Amino acid sequence: MLLRPSPPQALLIVGMTGVGKRTLARSLAAAWLCPERTHGGHCQRCAVCQKWSETGEHPDLRVLKPDPDQIKIDAVRETRQWANFAPAIAPFRFVILEEAHRLNPAAANALLKTLEEPPPRYHFILTAPASDLLLQTILSRCRIVRLGALTTEGVYQHLRACFDLPDAMLQTIAEFSEGAIGRAIRWAQALQTPESESKGKSAHNELDALQKLLQVFARLGTASLEEALRLAYDFREACRALEGGAEDRSPRAALALGLEYLIQWYRDSLALNYPDARLRFASHRQELNMLARRFAPAERMRDLQTITEARRAILGNANAQIVTEHLFIQLLRV
Ligand SMILES: [Zn+2]
Repeated sequence: MLLRPSPPQALLIVGMTGVGKRTLARSLAAAWLCPERTHGGHCQRCAVCQKWSETGEHPDLRVLKPDPDQIKIDAVRETRQWANFAPAIAPFRFVILEEAHRLNPAAANALLKTLEEPPPRYHFILTAPASDLLLQTILSRCRIVRLGALTTEGVYQHLRACFDLPDAMLQTIAEFSEGAIGRAIRWAQALQTPESESKGKSAHNELDALQKLLQVFARLGTASLEEALRLAYDFREACRALEGGAEDRSPRAALALGLEYLIQWYRDSLALNYPDARLRFASHRQELNMLARRFAPAERMRDLQTITEARRAILGNANAQIVTEHLFIQLLRV
């Protein structure tokens, strides 16, 4: 795309939080605004690139994002007027529209009108977590780029090259990052700040909570049915430490997150037999093996279903204690 004479009218970058959508959108805009661009991106030397790197801004680039949780029609209209002027120094004008799924209905319609009759040399880069969150009419005018998750090993290798943290810590961050490199980097940065600072403290707490969750999961391979209520209790306690944090999780969201990790634990146990499978919790292969030896694959398939239903119930309005106790009794029955 970079080597063609002009960029697509509208590009949509989709992928989960922390996977690099905003970084890619900015890199692409920087490349297209640079008159000396190559297939590798902007040149970083010409006058345009120099100005960009000094100020972090560019007269031919606008960034729209939710303010605070919606993108409103006035913002879209204002950039439309801005686009009527010819580019100041670059061959094109760009609008980066972050979290485009947060356009309110009026703003989405205004965007659609612009996409239908775009001013010359005016281009859009949109980002969103998933394409089906956008209007079909907007989607049909976008070229879509999907960003996938990295492997746990890929995240780990990158962290190891960039951060001076204990190996076990890097491994846990990689396992819980779900392949989102941005999330892993933010986490590692917070852990590098002293624990007394609030950011560092909440990152340490979160890492503790996740390690406690893994200890609960590990016991599923050996615990007796009598221990089910105890495990359910420990699980809820570990999840409680996930409340709040940078993402301001509610108690239900924290429990649902704990259950998502449990789902991944069972998926890993089912993937053990496939030599090419990439395990999320690769450093816990031994504990996963114990679970796999104890319960047949068909049983664990059924358990996956049970955990998924429990998660749905938690996100609904079900009682957390009853749901988790019932769940662990189901998981430990032999
Ligand atoms: Zn340049």
